[in-house]
Amino acid sequence: LGRVLLESQAANESNARTYPRKLPVAIDRASGSYITDVDGRVYIDFLSGAGVLALGHNHPELIATVQEQLTRLTHGLDFPTPVREEFKRRQLSMLPESIRDDMKIHFCGPTGGDGVEAAVKLCKKATGRGGVIAFQGSYHGSSHAAMSLTSETQPKEGLHNLLPGVHFAPFAYCHRCPLNLKPDSCGTRCGQLLTNTLRDTHGGVPKPAAIILELVQGEGGSIPAPVEFVREIAREAKAQDIPLIVDEVQTGCGRTGTWFAFEQYGIEPDVIIASKGLSGMGLPVSIILYNKRLDTWTPGSHIGTFRGNNLAFASGVTYLDVLEREHLLDNVRTRGEQLLDGLRAAALGSSIVDDVRGLGLMIGVEMRGFGGATSSEVALRLQRAALRRGLILEIGGREDCVVRLLPPLNITEHTAGEALAVITAALRSVEE
Ligand code: PMP
Repeated sequence: LGRVLLESQAANESNARTYPRKLPVAIDRASGSYITDVDGRVYIDFLSGAGVLALGHNHPELIATVQEQLTRLTHGLDFPTPVREEFKRRQLSMLPESIRDDMKIHFCGPTGGDGVEAAVKLCKKATGRGGVIAFQGSYHGSSHAAMSLTSETQPKEGLHNLLPGVHFAPFAYCHRCPLNLKPDSCGTRCGQLLTNTLRDTHGGVPKPAAIILELVQGEGGSIPAPVEFVREIAREAKAQDIPLIVDEVQTGCGRTGTWFAFEQYGIEPDVIIASKGLSGMGLPVSIILYNKRLDTWTPGSHIGTFRGNNLAFASGVTYLDVLEREHLLDNVRTRGEQLLDGLRAAALGSSIVDDVRGLGLMIGVEMRGFGGATSSEVALRLQRAALRRGLILEIGGREDCVVRLLPPLNITEHTAGEALAVITAALRSVEE
């Protein structure tokens, strides 16, 4: 049946779809960290709907909440409802105290890309400026503006008139330093380079409306930004009154071991974008949290129909209840360490692993070319070998050479151990 469904999909859906090409699985049902395909095979799910399913599949408390909300109200536009107000209150309460009272919230629409659009428009209007600084290796989405801010060139091929005025600054990808420096002696040159670019008014980059940054590049290859790099950017942005947008679509909602990743960097961003993990169960919703001083919006400045998903608000509140009650952020840190340690052990003596890195449960294994195969071919082989052994993994990175781990945030020690055993066996089989 799986083959039939995959063929049926290929016959009438656009070629732009990505996941089923590399992961030929037709899903019947799922529970927790496990997916069952239509032929009855069970897989550990380390993709989690692209980092969305914070509490895994079909969490009973989230289901109960949504079922209850279904009978009350599903879509509420932007009318106030008790659950919308509660969701908002809880989201704002998750912010560090130092900025909480300065921030407002805006509901942006169903997708992470919608949040990116809103954030950039907000900063453009507030500053009256046009350009945006993004980073090499960034991913911000597929809409016109979000793709313009995404550095990967392949999806942009043949697309004219994307957003003008986007400058891609070097990202501190220390494993492959864009400036060919060594992390212990570089003095964070990449960060300084951006500072110099911003200060040099003759350098061809006019003062931008915003800087947009992923604290851990996700699609770019699970690359945590070093603290000093981020602080340098935040410092200079503040000094020059350039709003700093942190795109926490993937890193947010607990994925890195704090509610937002920026908390681990000691910075105070002006705009935070959140989406994927907000509802805990994959219901579409995105928000921006932004400093009130940027609020020059008037009625109609940024609207849209799907900004009132009360099902997502309800599950989002229950997700936070579970997160707090079960100390889920501790679990993210502990399971993250378990996976990183296990992967580093498996990589010892392996000729195909180039780097193991991550923050919380956003982990990447960068592969190396081997026996005539390129690094991306090796990554694909590892992904396939893991799939045959019952583990679903994602691939990302500059040259598609990073195998990415994005498990649910409530993953157990046992399941993490199972996944490590699969990856270890898969590594050996690829090397044979
Ligand atoms: N920003 C980041 C950092 C992302 O990882 C993604 C999705 N992978 C997006 C934005 C876009 O989100 P969406 O696909 O929901 O539009």
